[in-house]
Amino acid sequence: MKAPEVAYACPSTLDEALTLLSRHGDEARPLAGGQSLVTALNMRLAAPALLVDLNRIPDLAGITRRDGVVRVGAMTRHRDLGASDLVRDHLPLVAAAVPHIAHPAIRNRGTLGGSVALGDPAAELPACCLALGATMVLRGQGGERRVPADAFFLGLYATAIAPAEILVAIEFPLPEPGAVWGFQELARRHGDYALAGLAATARRRERGLDAVRLVFFGVGDRPVLARGASAALAGAGIRAAQAALDADIDPPDDVAVKGRTRRHLARVLLGRVAGGMLEGA
Ligand code: FAD
Repeated sequence: MKAPEVAYACPSTLDEALTLLSRHGDEARPLAGGQSLVTALNMRLAAPALLVDLNRIPDLAGITRRDGVVRVGAMTRHRDLGASDLVRDHLPLVAAAVPHIAHPAIRNRGTLGGSVALGDPAAELPACCLALGATMVLRGQGGERRVPADAFFLGLYATAIAPAEILVAIEFPLPEPGAVWGFQELARRHGDYALAGLAATARRRERGLDAVRLVFFGVGDRPVLARGASAALAGAGIRAAQAALDADIDPPDDVAVKGRTRRHLARVLLGRVAGGMLEGA
């Protein structure tokens, strides 16, 4: 299928983009890498009157370290995220997740901001943002606001981005001493969306872990911070965490796989990832 007719604007400043979005309201959509939006247009799942291309706006680019955070511009491509020394050194969880996103052609165009703004529950990067306690930096015509990842993902493809707002950057706190992480996913083929995945962070103590954040993806309508399992892993170990996980997630049946299979896969992932984080503790 082909996309419906749509007007196109390519502003060179953030203010210009925000003006266009607020002038056209629900009729306008930001265009980032286009890897999901253009597909949605072609399949007639979306029919905005205007696309506001964010690709020429310098304010949305770049990866920098300052004031205790790594700030990643929303238009950073998956490829550049995976190749960044700052990301590799300070956000190894993100660096580990990137190769699992689709295939090189999609990673060459797809952006961190696009993935986070889309809020696909099976996507890797939203789960990493939640596990790492990231902050989403949003700009509207009224100014800037910051939303913690914990309050950002609201449901299936639903986020805290208000109409006519643009996600400009994501700020990740620098890891504390003793920080450990783990990432694994299970998919039918490499590059497919995961049937279940887990992005995890914790702090290694002399005996065991604390500050555990186990974030599952592909098992609900958004990335899920498994609070019960995270607390159980810190207090009582892997088996207790696997038992507690049953109350944290409730994956539905769908065309790809039964919910109970996803639940089983999530438990398996928890065992593997937690085992890795506990090694040497
Ligand atoms: P776009 O498609 O341009 O936009 C997506 C949505 O976000 C649109 O609604 C747009 O208006 C909005 N938006 C974009 N940027 C902003 C912003 N800065 N502020 C406000 N709103 C914004 N992803 C995975 O995570 N894992 C996978 O395994 C995976 N597999 C894929 C396989 C295929 C075949 C394809 C086509 C895509 C796959 N993707 C996967 C998605 C891809 O990784 C893109 O990251 C994702 O589509 C969104 O990024 P984008 O930059 O292309 O955004």
